[in-house]
Amino acid sequence: MVNTTIKTTKSQEVFAAAQNLMPGGVSSPVRAFKSVGGQPIVFDRVKGAYIWDVDGNQYIDYVGTWGPAICGHAHPEVIAALHEALEKGTSFGAPSTLENVLAEMVIDAVPSIEMVRFVNSGTEACMGVLRLMRAFTNRDKIIKFEGCYHGHADTFLVKAGSGVATLGLPDSPGVPKAATSTTLTAPYNDLESVKALFEENRDEIAGVILEPVVGNAGFIAPDAGFLEGLRELTHEYGALLVFDEVMTGFRIAYGGAQEKFGVTPDLTTLGKVIGGGLPVGAYGGRRDIMSMVAPAGPVYQAGTLSGNPLAMTAGIKTLELLQKPGTYDYLERITKKLADGLLQIAKETGHAACGGQISAMFGLFFTSGPVHNYEDAKKSDTAKFGRFHRGMLERGVYLAPSQFEAGFTSFAHTEEDIDQTLAVARDVISSL
Ligand SMILES: *Cc1c(COP(=O)(O)O)cnc(C)c1O
Repeated sequence: MVNTTIKTTKSQEVFAAAQNLMPGGVSSPVRAFKSVGGQPIVFDRVKGAYIWDVDGNQYIDYVGTWGPAICGHAHPEVIAALHEALEKGTSFGAPSTLENVLAEMVIDAVPSIEMVRFVNSGTEACMGVLRLMRAFTNRDKIIKFEGCYHGHADTFLVKAGSGVATLGLPDSPGVPKAATSTTLTAPYNDLESVKALFEENRDEIAGVILEPVVGNAGFIAPDAGFLEGLRELTHEYGALLVFDEVMTGFRIAYGGAQEKFGVTPDLTTLGKVIGGGLPVGAYGGRRDIMSMVAPAGPVYQAGTLSGNPLAMTAGIKTLELLQKPGTYDYLERITKKLADGLLQIAKETGHAACGGQISAMFGLFFTSGPVHNYEDAKKSDTAKFGRFHRGMLERGVYLAPSQFEAGFTSFAHTEEDIDQTLAVARDVISSL
């Protein structure tokens, strides 16, 4: 079933029309394929590990709608639960039992979370946590890391990864200087730089926010001792530690990166997986801090659709599926096979490459590496990545359309899917 040539006439038609209707023809920038060249394919439907486009081509998917689809797309149990919930209405704007259920599941799973607030996206979760960090500490400055993405709120659009990295925007017009004047940045995996920032800004830093495993600058793992070091520094300087686990939550491990690495932050943001493919975000943490959120406390944050019953239902069912014994062992095994395989092929065919994987998250950079931070990641041969991406696409494998995005697997991916992907990769990489 390996596609050797694909016909994409309909995709081209739809995307051409879209460009007149929406900026760049998309609802989110990276989808436009700018950084890999060529046209995006237009999706018709998704199921399990696969995508079908409007021309009828089938692909093995390693984007998983950017992370949520860890059970595979449109899992029958999620769909069935949604059908049932739908009959009871699409939005309440009032308390529901479903919120309690998902809140309890999140609190039980994630070590740092004693109370949680549901919102509608990862961006919103990070905006909420930012206000809370500042309110709790009565300090304005924050430290973030180069290449880490925390959604598109003004304060975070400094040396941000994801689409900002992809498009090479150092920043964005429309963000007032005042909004980013309190944002301090450091290179990832560099504790000395963080310590220096704390020294230069004594009693002014509310906290440190980071992706505990980076996915938005490509896949970058924390060096041994980095997360522990941040925990110590934040304690020492009276600042909060915030893990943005929008991507890593329930993916790196059921309890997220904080469970995997045994480092407990004060606050955590979640999104993607906990919505099971519907729009959900959340932030949570220590009870004394979360008690400051309105209406329990004075820190305002609200949402018409927050705690939406359909979104809660998809989240609950997704987490239930993830609780089945062996899930994370399976995810680790197939993803390791894929990441190791890709690296092996690149080495055998004489291409400088490095990469890695933790649980169901992986990456491959076209640079000899090692990649410890965004500067290292930027040494990648992005033109080569673009050709790799196009080659894989034309042979039925859908990868994230940027060198600076991690890849994702799901438990719907079979060993055969991985074998087929590696066979295709061997063809493509040896022709680069
Ligand atoms: C995706 C992501 C966000 C933003 O979430 P949206 O739902 O796209 O707003 C924030 N932080 C991280 C780490 C992410 O991966």
